[in-house]
Amino acid sequence: MPKVFFKTFGCQMNERDSEQVAQMFVERGFTVTPQADDADVVLMNTCSVRDQAEQKALGSMRHLGKHRKKNPNIVYGMMGCMAQSRGDQLLEEVPHLDLVAGTQKYHRVVDHCVDLMKAKEEAQMDDLRRPIIDVDEEEDSQNTIRDHVAKEHGVTEFVSIMQGCNMKCTFCIVPYTRGPERARPIAEIVDECKRLGDQGVREVTLLGQIVNLYGRHEFPKVDGKSPFVQLLEAVHELDDIKRIRFTSPHPIGYKEDVIEAFTYLPKLVDHVHFPMQSGSDRILKAMHRPYKAQRFIDICDRMKEARPGIAISTDIIVGFPGETEEDYLETRKAVEHVQFDQAFIFRYSKRKDTPAAEMEGQLSERVKEERNQDLLQLVNDIVQRKNSELIGTTQEVLCEGPSRYNKETLTGRTSTNRIVIFDGDAERMAGQLFKVKITESTGYTLYGDPVLQ
Ligand code: SF4
Repeated sequence: MPKVFFKTFGCQMNERDSEQVAQMFVERGFTVTPQADDADVVLMNTCSVRDQAEQKALGSMRHLGKHRKKNPNIVYGMMGCMAQSRGDQLLEEVPHLDLVAGTQKYHRVVDHCVDLMKAKEEAQMDDLRRPIIDVDEEEDSQNTIRDHVAKEHGVTEFVSIMQGCNMKCTFCIVPYTRGPERARPIAEIVDECKRLGDQGVREVTLLGQIVNLYGRHEFPKVDGKSPFVQLLEAVHELDDIKRIRFTSPHPIGYKEDVIEAFTYLPKLVDHVHFPMQSGSDRILKAMHRPYKAQRFIDICDRMKEARPGIAISTDIIVGFPGETEEDYLETRKAVEHVQFDQAFIFRYSKRKDTPAAEMEGQLSERVKEERNQDLLQLVNDIVQRKNSELIGTTQEVLCEGPSRYNKETLTGRTSTNRIVIFDGDAERMAGQLFKVKITESTGYTLYGDPVLQ
């Protein structure tokens, strides 16, 4: 039985795309191996969001090339964002590459690899060096990310509901690597969630680059509700799905119907990951984020009214070109106002081929680092205070199974997306919702005791 090895860099969408490709290989008689040294096909799913991720992927693929000594017919492929943005240039960086497959070509990867394996066996490939480059746009490719690996599922799974993004934020490479927005039909997404529910999944995370703008070009509003809210309602109907998460929404499109949904759809969790990026109107404009900081803050306030106790996490970039001390202080002020429950803070770094990389006013690494550290400290203080306030309270937790770091203990998440570690029997508790009394907090992780019911 041939074997395929995967290495995935980047976001949850990449994880999900890799899983789809893995399932296609399994359907064709392959097994997925965790070791590259016994693989017949080595595939890397790549990320272009930061230069560091690209360099890591290139280094790793060069290193994996050593397995050709043992198996000269091994097939090497790179897929995803970097494959899309660099195309055949990747062959200059990694000469042993056999396949470069773009973000709209995941469903073609297995066919390409089987053809390449055959060609190598017949010794055509090494003689002729004809790698396959497949990076063109393909209509309906968003509908091909729909199958999950036929394994025992976890309790929680990702579901891609759309691909691409039309927003063109000036720091972001995604619109160039993932193409324009394309949504899957509601019925197909619901069907996928139902199949997952039948297999024991209890929580789904709906994925899209701008998830709340789902279907705006394809599907009409119904009773004033956006296609995204229609989708939330439809998934909510599924008995086996107990929790619904989504990531990441954009302030544009975070309209009243989305906020309202939190008042009548109890399976929507008490958490939203809501990227702010900056608290300065001037910088938001330079980022091509078409909203004012106050609008972002108002949405957060409205969400807290609609769902008291909701946790809000965010992404923030510090040190964007032209960011003055005053701009940075605006961001700080917004963080203090919203009191985020978690924040992913990034020092701005240039992405090749994005407008921001060419902007004047690039800041020194020292200034970026100072702002980064200052904001991290502020956010950590908020998170630690909020988490320590939970000591002594009882929280509902969805048990995900043994903890990654200590298999003797179990891990789960609160509806607000806080990780809780506790003792218990994995077989009996995984996939169950139950109450845990919080006894300790170490910054971002909570510890507790299950409450017997
Ligand atoms: S909304 Fe902006 S940051 Fe998000 S994927 Fe689209 S262009 Fe990138």
